[in-house]
Amino acid sequence: MNIQAIKGVKDILPGEIEVWQYIEDKAKNILETYGFSEIRVPIFEYTELFSRSIGETTDIVEKEMYTFEESAGKKITLRPEGTAPVVRAYIEHQLYNKSHITKLYYLGPMFRHERPQAGRYRQFYQIGAEALGIDSPVLDAEVLSMLDNIIKELDIQGLDLQINSLGCKDCRPGYREALKGFLKDKFPMLCENCQSRMERNPLRVLDCKSRTCKEAVANAPIIPDYLCGHCKEHFDKVKETLKTLKVSFSTNPRLVRGLDYYTKTTFELVSTNLGAQNTVAAGGRYDGLVEELGGPKTPGIGFAIGMERLASLIKKDKFRTNIPYIFIATIGDEAKGIVIPIIDGLRKKGIKVETDYEGLSLKSQMRKADKFQARYVLIIGEDEIKKGSVLLRDMEKKTQEEIDINNLTEVLAAKLMIPAK
Ligand code: ATP
Ligand code: MG
Repeated sequence: MNIQAIKGVKDILPGEIEVWQYIEDKAKNILETYGFSEIRVPIFEYTELFSRSIGETTDIVEKEMYTFEESAGKKITLRPEGTAPVVRAYIEHQLYNKSHITKLYYLGPMFRHERPQAGRYRQFYQIGAEALGIDSPVLDAEVLSMLDNIIKELDIQGLDLQINSLGCKDCRPGYREALKGFLKDKFPMLCENCQSRMERNPLRVLDCKSRTCKEAVANAPIIPDYLCGHCKEHFDKVKETLKTLKVSFSTNPRLVRGLDYYTKTTFELVSTNLGAQNTVAAGGRYDGLVEELGGPKTPGIGFAIGMERLASLIKKDKFRTNIPYIFIATIGDEAKGIVIPIIDGLRKKGIKVETDYEGLSLKSQMRKADKFQARYVLIIGEDEIKKGSVLLRDMEKKTQEEIDINNLTEVLAAKLMIPAK
């Protein structure tokens, strides 16, 4: 049997990749406008980086990581997410010394050993942004507004921005205890996984996708009732600023995230137009993470957008996919020889050219030009060579004109509106 791609991974072929490139271009533009610079971090790291930051009792660390033993006995893991590697690089290169605020974005593949299904892959792509150094609620609102702008620029409808606060190291323990107390009675209803981690990490139950766990937490205490004065004030200011910035949102007091490093503001961008995997982007504040990973006490906030889920929401006819082709049809061997440098010259001017390599008849070449959806066809035969001119056929208008072979590039560039180099 032929070798096939690994289960749960996906090839992104021409036809679909244009949507991805479109998203990436738009997102990069907006991120740069908000002062974010790109960072590229490796796709593997020491396992400890993830277990320490994401948390030992999370789904990701417990069962979703691709981990390998290195020869020295050290374990390495294919990154399941981007925040921990970015923070590792931030500390390693002491970026905190360079500026009071560091804004970074990344895009690339992440790896999680999950059960593959629509919208859930084992290699998937994220665009993520991280702002480190400032703990102002205004920054939280700005980051959310930036995410909102990306969605608006991509003209995606039906997304709900849900926000919550997870409190801080002062107020979360109180909530944790209250939740634990509540869950004790519901213990038999919980899935095996939640039963085993309830003691160590009761918040995970709120995020569990099992039906019985969802039922069990239906009337559980909610975090907003337990926030300390500082966290409450922070959250109120985030909401107030979002209103000023005209970003629509709803508060979801049951929203928690699948990673332990989050504090205070957390959020998810949820689609009403996707099936079960309906969270398109997610993120939040992580004020303890830099310190946890050995850096100086530094607040941070960020998010990651799931590319596959976002791309599935883009209307494919929204954008022009390609620069139009020119097809060069030749008649006779002499013409075939002459077009080689012509094609080369046109390509160097940024004009997209295809030709026939197989000695096809003119009729077959015209059919081929149609397949390429060529906007123009240049017809070069012996007569044309003698006259020093070529025939240019406009495939849309179905007209034909003769042009001087020496003016070819200029004429084509003008027709295709390619700026002169
Ligand atoms: P979910 O609840 O869907 O499992 P998560 O909480 O694990 O998501 P994050 O780690 O916050 O997700 O990742 C941010 C975004 O990355 C998600 O909102 C989603 O769009 C995307 N994402 C996460 N895991 C996958 C996956 N296995 N396949 C495709 N996209 C994913
Ligand atoms: Mg997950």
